[in-house]
This record gives sequence, C-alpha cells and structure tokens, in this order.
Amino acid sequence: MLHTYSLSGLTMVSSAGVLPERTLKVENRRIRALGDTAKHEVRFAAGLFCYPALLNVHDHLRGNYLPRIGPTNGAYYLNWSYWENDLRASAVVLDERANIPVEQMYQLSAYKNLFSGVVTVNDHFPHEFNEPFIPGLPMRVIRDYTLAHECSSFDLKWGDGIQVEHRRAVERNHPFITHLEEGFDAESQDGVGILERLGCLDDHGVFIHCIGFSDEDIRRVAAARASVGWCPASNLFMFNVTCKVRKMLEAGVNVSIGTDSTHTGSVNLLEEMRLARATYRRMYGEDLAARRIMPMVTANPARAFRLQDRTGGIAAGLQADLLVLRPRVADPYEALLAAQIEDIELLLMEGTPLLGSVEHEELFALRECPYTRVRVRGRAMCVKGDPAGLLADVRRAVGFRKVLDYLPLDD
Ligand SMILES: [Zn+2]
Repeated sequence: MLHTYSLSGLTMVSSAGVLPERTLKVENRRIRALGDTAKHEVRFAAGLFCYPALLNVHDHLRGNYLPRIGPTNGAYYLNWSYWENDLRASAVVLDERANIPVEQMYQLSAYKNLFSGVVTVNDHFPHEFNEPFIPGLPMRVIRDYTLAHECSSFDLKWGDGIQVEHRRAVERNHPFITHLEEGFDAESQDGVGILERLGCLDDHGVFIHCIGFSDEDIRRVAAARASVGWCPASNLFMFNVTCKVRKMLEAGVNVSIGTDSTHTGSVNLLEEMRLARATYRRMYGEDLAARRIMPMVTANPARAFRLQDRTGGIAAGLQADLLVLRPRVADPYEALLAAQIEDIELLLMEGTPLLGSVEHEELFALRECPYTRVRVRGRAMCVKGDPAGLLADVRRAVGFRKVLDYLPLDD
C-alpha cells in the first residue's frame, strides 16, 4: 500500500482562495502539507484545478430512481405529504423500483453522488434504515447524526422524537437534521416556532427546504446559528417556489446546496449547482457568483455536519478528500459550475481514488482500491467497484434497458 505521495502541478481552489501550481502531499488518509513533494509523485497536465471533494447536504439513498414523481394537472403541493402519497401510488415505484433490492438502490445512489464529485453525503433516513448498507458503499455516508423526518404532527415519526434526538446531538456533537417548513399549511409554516418552543433551535440544527420560512423565521435561524439545506430543483418541482435564499444569505445563515433524491431533485449535485444559480437569477434578477456557490457544496455543508476539521477544504491536517477537474473555462470557480461528469480527472476520498482518468490507474492499484474500467461519454475512466455491473443488474431486474441520467456509462 502506498502511504505517502504527492500531487503536483495543480491549482488549488477552495473557499479560502486560489493557490496556483502547488504540490500537495498526502500521508495515509490526510493532507500532510501544501508545497511538499513526496518520493512518489502523481503528475497532472498543466491547467487543472483541485477542489475539496464535494458534500451533498441532502439526499435519500433509496430514492434515486427516475423519472421524477410530482404533482399533475398543473397544480402544486400544499406540503410534502401529498408527494408521499403520489410516490407510494406511482407506477415507476410499483412496476420498476420495487424490483430492485434496497441494497442496489443504495449502490446506485452512491454512484449518483460519486460521479458528480461528491465524497460525503447525508442519507436522510433513520440509522436503522441505512446502517446495513453504508459499509458496502463506494463513498462516505455520514453516520454521526440525529434526526427528525419533519417537525409537524403528521410527519413520519423517524427517530426518538425531536427533543430526545436533539439532546443526543448536543451530547455527541452531532448535527440534528430535519426537513423543515416544506409546505404552506399553518403547521408546516410553524416549524421554526415548534423547534423554538421545544428548546431545540440551535447550531446543531440542519434544516432542509425551509420554503415556508418568514422573515422572522430567517432572523431566528440566523441568530441560532443553525444551517439550511437548499434544494431548489426539488422545491420548484413540487411547489413552484423555493426558500428566500437571498434573505438567508444576507442574514448570515450557513446555506448548503443539496440534491434531494432524483424522484424530485436534480440528476446530481453538478446540475443542482447550475439550477441554484439560474433560480437565483430568475428570482432576484442578479447573479449568485460561482465564488459564493462553491462553499455551499464544500465548507458550508462540512460545517453543518460538524466535520469542518476533517473535510470541505484544502489544508494540512484535513482528510485528503479532493476533486481534480479538467476545466471548461479559465476561472476556477466558474470551472466548477461548468463541470460535467466526464471532466473529473481524479476524485479522492482520504487519499484513495474513487474515480479518475485511466491515466491514474496506477494510483488505484497502489492505494489498493478495487476498481473497474468504464466509459463515460467517450472518456475512459477507472471507478471504485463495478457500476456497469450494477446497471446491468438493474436492467435485468426491471426487464428493459433502463437509463439513469446520473450514471451515463457508454456500452
Ligand atoms: Zn428530503
């Protein structure tokens, strides 16, 4: 096993700024130093950018199937519960997804994230739902969290109740994650009030959607230093509206961008970033700079998950969770916003490659990562595990040549 190596010739790009042409030394699972060279050097072509690997603040790893399931007849939902009913009655779920073992749904979901440069994701389900599957996945799913499904009287009763789960989060220094104010009925719109009255509104909170937030809710969430997960594609699809994101940013709320599952959200986090920017422009008539979007998929979700001393940046001591891209444009932040799956040159989790150009095949072997070769839109890549075999299994299970847009493997 190769323990120490360096990456050379990359421009480092993080929330902290841009460092042109630096060498980065990896020792075991961590970034040892910037500017240091090891005996084993991984060299890159000129002009490539290295970012922190991305974090996806919100997903449901048994729900990444396509096509989407949403409101019909040109109407939109009052709250999430109407979608839940449509999901359970959906032919896509009953005729197709039901034939795929849950373990394979988790694998598909992991690859949806991995192929978009995501190394860390939250699976918004109770621990007993995902614990059996997480160890077999090719990327990181956070395990240190407490949760509620939502905070209304009609929610799905996940976990041990808001107060018990929140207290546990405080005791263990975990995030307390919940959908919040995902709807416009009176109770949904009181989500922040419910948490406040229970004494559960503080910086452990990671609140997903928040489309019902009033200005006063935003003020209270900012004062509590809680985090918000913004999933614009899912919100627009189900409700034709998303949260008041500009007011949240102005108030200093820690906002991260999440995909939600593909049953309602974007195909992957790369697409979600672009959709978030387009949505912002449509809502406010101004640009949300790429420089401001990047932290929403790196440093901000790391802080929300209380992992900022482990991932989400490029600095000595952090895990070597890194994403190297072949840029389509010269500006390093714009290059991230423009990225497609096939632009990924190398994706590392704790110094071990998960996905990369075949030019880096040696690193997969040296770091003892079991991998296969695939072709992604004409580009030969190595990837941890066997996503092509997985897709073949899925096609056998559903009985036809199913296409999943987040896994665009050529065959
Ligand atoms: Zn969700």
